[in-house]
Amino acid sequence: MKNAYDVGEILKLMGKINKKEEELIIKAYRFAQRAHEGQKRLSGEPHFTHPFETAKTLASLGMDAETISAGLMHDVLEDTKTGEEEMRKEFGENIVFLVNGVTKLGTLKYRGHERHVESLRKFFVAMANDLRTVIIKFADRLHNLKTLEFLREDKRRRIAIESIEVYAPLANRLGMGKFKGELEDAAFPFAFPEEYKQTEEIIKEKKDLYEKNLDEIQKKLRKELNKNKIKVVEINYRMKHKYSLWKKLLKREMDIEKVYDLIALRVVVESIEECYRVLGIIHSLWNPLPGRIKDYIAVPKHNGYRSIHTTIFTGSGGIAEIQIRTKEMHAEAAYGIAAHFAYKEQGNKKVENDKSKFKWIEELKNLNYSPDEPKKFIEHLKMDFFNDRIFVFTPKGDVIDMPEDSCSLDFAYLIHSDIGEHTFGAKVNGKMVQLFTKLKNGDIVEIITKKDSRPSRKWLEFVKTSVAKKHIRSYLEKNTLLARLKSFGRS
Ligand code: MN
Repeated sequence: MKNAYDVGEILKLMGKINKKEEELIIKAYRFAQRAHEGQKRLSGEPHFTHPFETAKTLASLGMDAETISAGLMHDVLEDTKTGEEEMRKEFGENIVFLVNGVTKLGTLKYRGHERHVESLRKFFVAMANDLRTVIIKFADRLHNLKTLEFLREDKRRRIAIESIEVYAPLANRLGMGKFKGELEDAAFPFAFPEEYKQTEEIIKEKKDLYEKNLDEIQKKLRKELNKNKIKVVEINYRMKHKYSLWKKLLKREMDIEKVYDLIALRVVVESIEECYRVLGIIHSLWNPLPGRIKDYIAVPKHNGYRSIHTTIFTGSGGIAEIQIRTKEMHAEAAYGIAAHFAYKEQGNKKVENDKSKFKWIEELKNLNYSPDEPKKFIEHLKMDFFNDRIFVFTPKGDVIDMPEDSCSLDFAYLIHSDIGEHTFGAKVNGKMVQLFTKLKNGDIVEIITKKDSRPSRKWLEFVKTSVAKKHIRSYLEKNTLLARLKSFGRS
């Protein structure tokens, strides 16, 4: 009889691997299957379906053999009689470390604000220790979401909402856009059933028309690219994920006509240079919508996303978004940080080199957290790490990445605390502005300092970043103390 959970499926998803890697996967597969023998999921299926599907997701993300093995065994230590020592003897410290990490993340319960904070915090610590733990946890959660229907209703809702509020933003922050979309879409119907239904209906109404439209654009564009001898790796279109469509609809008064990227055409080419040539060709065929050309290649999004976006008038009264990118950008946009583990040959070296790219993870770990103020901590996180970002330039052209609604003072402190502390004025795009004026994406900011200029209490009301807040506060505290000491001295 054919095995329903064939290890061959995992191996096939992994693509080219060596003998050692293959043996490791098969060994972990057998180990987990034996440990879970006889256990059943609420759906009635053998428990092993769950780690098996988790491992498949990891394999399709291009994760390394160690991670996939840990995925296969991620429930073994928690849910079976097999102990840590046995696993260590068979698989070594690295894999035990990963499995333990996933187990620790799993014991978090989501109850109210404090739990929420605690679960985020554990995530950050785990991420900084070994990001792979978090990616296994994502894959684990994705499969659990896909089998949510078998859970009690209150539990179902809790898990779905937690996935949308905690897991998806984290996946996004790690640049795993495709994964974020999948997590949200699996959770959406359970978290917000009514809204889900409404969104589905709106999509159904529009989809055919949009697809037909894009089909024509695609044909015309292909022909023109051919003429210009640009080698197209791929042209296809993608539907916007349902949950993110819903969020966009909320911003646009529920008017689908105002959502320009329900379906977007994607053009994948070989080189960056070709990306810009394709953009030129597109704009010579159709008129672009002013203000909608976004060059995320020159200025990538904070999570590393790169691509050129443009929205065009299709001529027949319609509007369409086109995204242009290279092969590498395409893989990165889908898998983000996971794409950096895909280079199996180079082993740890590659991962190490990329760490600097994710400096914010280190920053997260070092974030101060006081258990009395969970609300503040969350606000802080939302502000600094999950919100939309803007990119602002120094006069020399260095890019400073900051949260939306930041002002020149934030900018000054981000450059250096000493500059922040002596800020006197600011020029934005060559013009003097108020220190508290909100900055916009692409602004060029010049800070004017004066030796005797000092922070004032008022600054605190306007700055957005925690870096600026922290420095201003500590300056004010020191200073009131000094003033008091001085007045003592006088009396
Ligand atoms: Mn699990």
